[in-house]
Amino acid sequence: MSLPLEVLNTGTELLLGAVLNTHLRFFAEALFPLGLRIQRQLTVPDGPAIADNLRDCFPRCRVLLITGGLGPTTDDITREAVAELLGLRLVHDETIMEAIRARFARRNLPLSARVELQALRPPEATVLTNEHGTAPGLYLPPLPVPGSQILSPHLFLLPGPPRELKPMFEQSVIPILRSLLPSDPVCEKLTLKVLGLGESMVEEKVGADLLALGVELGYCARPGEVDVRVIGTPAQIQQAEELIRSRIGAHVVCADERSIEKILVDLLTERSLTLATAESCTGGSIAHHITNVPGSSAVFRCGWVTYANDAKTRDLGVPEELLQKHGAVSEPVATAMASGALARSGADFAAATTGIAGPGGGSPEKPVGTIFIALARKDGPVRCHRFQFRTERESFKALATQTTLNLLREAILASD
Ligand code: ATP
Ligand code: MG
Repeated sequence: MSLPLEVLNTGTELLLGAVLNTHLRFFAEALFPLGLRIQRQLTVPDGPAIADNLRDCFPRCRVLLITGGLGPTTDDITREAVAELLGLRLVHDETIMEAIRARFARRNLPLSARVELQALRPPEATVLTNEHGTAPGLYLPPLPVPGSQILSPHLFLLPGPPRELKPMFEQSVIPILRSLLPSDPVCEKLTLKVLGLGESMVEEKVGADLLALGVELGYCARPGEVDVRVIGTPAQIQQAEELIRSRIGAHVVCADERSIEKILVDLLTERSLTLATAESCTGGSIAHHITNVPGSSAVFRCGWVTYANDAKTRDLGVPEELLQKHGAVSEPVATAMASGALARSGADFAAATTGIAGPGGGSPEKPVGTIFIALARKDGPVRCHRFQFRTERESFKALATQTTLNLLREAILASD
């Protein structure tokens, strides 16, 4: 790594679990395009731990991003800790003070003496404007560390609140980091979302050959899906993508960070198509996922949760005889649910689910985990698929939901 970089998050609330540390993800994503990676991240409580850990970080890195503790309260001591460690004076900066005064005046708030502490800075520091809060950020170039032979890393003191931190990082920190880097970064990142193949199966099919290309390879598995992450030069990335698509292309649903429900809503929107759902064992989860996507109102007409047999008959018109003859968890019932939903909603596509989530209710012919997923489309045949998801109840619902969304995606693409 050309520029070893560490992150030091301060804040007792982060270690109490009261606030989720969102800075790490934000930094990692913003730094990658510059060719920079976070080498280590530490979270420390407010107080003396800040100074102790700063001292430890200094010899290891060339850039240190410190967040939090720039505010006016007594637990905000980052500025002081850094100044003390480097033997720097803190002086009053009238330009900062003016900005603080103006901010308080706009809000009709009285200035307290502690607020003025935020106008202190070492003369060696560059002020990073805070457009969304009071305390500015500070940048300190490498300086001799008293009592040691080393220079301090490039230090960025940044505010804790994400809405203050993010714009400051983009506007002020990135340009400074860019100026420290030798040339344009050569690394790119590709993430392919793979559905319907387990992590180990994906690795078996592409892992060794991808590594032979010399790329950095990683997998991130979630229920029913695997993200394959490849990092390398643009030429390596192109080869890697061709390799993955040629081996398991049918399972690759996208090369971006979109969820399957977002992909589905996008496909429907682009084609001005609409959708309805008739759910039994998924309990509304499919409709829930679709309606999580902004803009889904243009494509999602309605959804039924028909859990009881008589609800399937009353709301979707599933014939009672079918239910009696084949049972609610059966291909004929799933098919009738999908047809009923299609006819009653007037949508272009309808999906239906009926299955045994467990732990009870299984039989030798239909063990726990059995599910029928039927898809109906206007002017086309109804297709029914049978799956077996051997897992506990919640994962069963998650897998069933995701599988249905993916079957819909495939059906829409196939109808083009
Ligand atoms: P303030 O002027 O608000 O005191 P500050 O720079 O002193 O700002 P902190 O006091 O450390 O920052 O944090 C302020 C708030 O910012 C916290 O209560 C928390 O809600 C949020 N925050 C701090 N650090 C993080 C983090 N790593 N991830 C997400 N939110 C954070
Ligand atoms: Mg604070």
